[in-house]
Amino acid sequence: MLKINNLHVKLEDEDKAILKGLTLEVPAGQVHAIMGPNGSGKSTLSYVLSGRDGYVVTEGEASLDGASLLDMEPEERAAAGLFLAFQYPVEIPGVGNMTFLRTAVNAQRKARGEAELTAGEFLKVVRAKAADLQISPDMLKRPVNVGFSGGEKKRNEILQMAMLEPRMCIMDETDSGLDVDAMRLVAEGVNALRGPDRSFLVITHYQRLLDHIKPDLVHILSNGRIIKSGGPELALEVEENGYGDLLAEAG
Ligand code: ADP
Ligand code: MG
Ligand code: MG
Repeated sequence: MLKINNLHVKLEDEDKAILKGLTLEVPAGQVHAIMGPNGSGKSTLSYVLSGRDGYVVTEGEASLDGASLLDMEPEERAAAGLFLAFQYPVEIPGVGNMTFLRTAVNAQRKARGEAELTAGEFLKVVRAKAADLQISPDMLKRPVNVGFSGGEKKRNEILQMAMLEPRMCIMDETDSGLDVDAMRLVAEGVNALRGPDRSFLVITHYQRLLDHIKPDLVHILSNGRIIKSGGPELALEVEENGYGDLLAEAG
């Protein structure tokens, strides 16, 4: 599924390496978590995978289901099944949530050579999925994320994910700033979407999210590389002792 090999990334307008040989594999159906100190390169990884401007890959590769991601345009990556949930969901004034979702879903279907959904077909699916996530019909009509509470934005993001049915979901600190209830909702949304054909890479600062989303593996990212991987107990170890011991161990 997702394969990242010896990835080196620097900023476009600065000779500063951020990722320095990152290797990671997330098999189909698995949930992996990435934790790490501030500034270790977690967000950079998600930006590079999504194709955001400003970063240059100087070495290494990343592929999804065998297709090289780094050569693709952002929308091609989405069509290939990549979904990114960010820490701060964007607000899009003037664009209704439902219109946005339908455009995204149909653009993706088109890129995959599938027939677009009619308005009626789309409405049926989106209403059912929104109801599952306790998203009100009113929230579907409002402009994307405008005036949504933190928890509503997160639920909306899970709805986007549910509608796009991605192969690989990357969530960058999607839990930060959420209260316990909102965090549980995000976790439940993710758990409901787990399946043998879908994988998740959950980037988080806090162990507590991983109480609700049980990862198969936890990776510690420090200074642009994975310095340790282990089971969920690794997250508990970080929670208890911080990163100090792990960093010292890694040298
Ligand atoms: P994390 O998400 O783990 O906190 P980031 O990927 O955000 O780490 O950042 C990694 C390092 O790269 C930090 O030192 C950060 O300051 C730097 N960095 C990332 N993006 C930029 C940018 N666009 N301009 C300047 N520095 C950046
Ligand atoms: Mg940071
Ligand atoms: Mg970050």
